[in-house]
Amino acid sequence: MEQDELVSFDQQHLWHPYTALGSNDTVFAVESAKGCKLTLKDGRELVDGTASWWSAIHGYNHPVLNQAMKDQIDRMSHVMFGGLTHEPAVQLGQTLIDITPEPLQAIFYADSGSVSVEASLKMAVQYQQAKGNPERTRFLTVRGGYHGDTTGAMSVSDPENGMHRLFTGILNKQLYAPHPVCRFHDDWDQNDFNAMEDLIETHEANIAAIIIEPIVQGAGGMWFYHPEYLRQLRSLCDRYEILLIFDEIATGFGRTGKLFAMQHANVIPDIVCLGKALTGGTMTMAAILTTFNVAHTINASDAGVFMHGPTFMGNPMACAVANASIKLLLESDWQNRVSHIETIMREQLEAARHFKSVADVRVLGAIGVIETLTPVKQAELCQAFVEHGVWVRPFNRFIYIMPPYIIEAEDLIKICKAMIKVVQSIT
Ligand SMILES: *Cc1c(COP(=O)(O)O)cnc(C)c1O
Repeated sequence: MEQDELVSFDQQHLWHPYTALGSNDTVFAVESAKGCKLTLKDGRELVDGTASWWSAIHGYNHPVLNQAMKDQIDRMSHVMFGGLTHEPAVQLGQTLIDITPEPLQAIFYADSGSVSVEASLKMAVQYQQAKGNPERTRFLTVRGGYHGDTTGAMSVSDPENGMHRLFTGILNKQLYAPHPVCRFHDDWDQNDFNAMEDLIETHEANIAAIIIEPIVQGAGGMWFYHPEYLRQLRSLCDRYEILLIFDEIATGFGRTGKLFAMQHANVIPDIVCLGKALTGGTMTMAAILTTFNVAHTINASDAGVFMHGPTFMGNPMACAVANASIKLLLESDWQNRVSHIETIMREQLEAARHFKSVADVRVLGAIGVIETLTPVKQAELCQAFVEHGVWVRPFNRFIYIMPPYIIEAEDLIKICKAMIKVVQSIT
């Protein structure tokens, strides 16, 4: 297919994430991807700074992940999970239980991050019903969060930012504490927790669970907050028998420098959602882990079962490649790689701090962020990045990267230098 024909059909007929159909914003046709490079149909090569939204941690087209999918496809690409099971699902379950904190022993496979968030909210409600607390149906969260695009997940995401404001009328009204202000690397300020504490104490009788992205607020603002916040949440959740749900969909599998962001705080949630990097950026899949206490309590609820079951639950291809991806990660020196990426980004992005258009520069693990004072023009900036030979996709006030862990220093420096040049050109 010719490039022009492809792009023109796409622009007329295909929606992309958060876009207007038929808009003239450029889309770039990708021919192939390998390692940290995307090759466009016109032959240009881009160094990737996005890992395709946190997911492709080993880079693209990895032979080990490809082999895992090839081996599985010859056995079966899918069978229903109702009444049937298979080795890839069981092996993945064993691995996830091994690498997460000991109390998390029960697993629900979902087909995307948003769906896992929906299911985790339902788990919490069924748990509270079984405990004789049917009035506990609300969720408490913090502003600036992002938990996905389905209605339940939207209701616990930031109530005002552009993604969800328009749907306020159909969403359940949840409770929103201010977003944590105290930074990850700063001294803890107890005032940061006051509003949250007040909300819990006022509404505890109606709260089923608190849901939060641990340490890193991703799509809601690329913000890194203090681990003490999570420790205090845990202690109030225990006091009031509120479940604590961590959404580690973006942070899981090493991105923040720990295998899971919750380990920065040494806090164990009652429920955790994993997704994105779970399959190394190859197939859509998410997993929810919870405790036997939550799972067995749900068995004693009115329904007697957990009321959720996607058609493609436990997809064998996704499970097989998730197994291969986690094995690859654990056998690699990912900690050193992530800390090396962190060091380079700190050095390289610092130059932006004093630009007139820049509000903040921050780095944690393999996440680097330049925050501007006003929202940027996404399409124009993407175009400028492509001209610099890199793929970076800013949103709102955030020009950020989270490259594959395998990125070479030279390529990472190239991305960072492009960020500096592009930010410098914003007046
Ligand atoms: C991406 C993301 C989701 C939604 O996952 P999808 O697979 O896009 O549905 C939920 N929570 C967080 C923290 C995310 O980053």
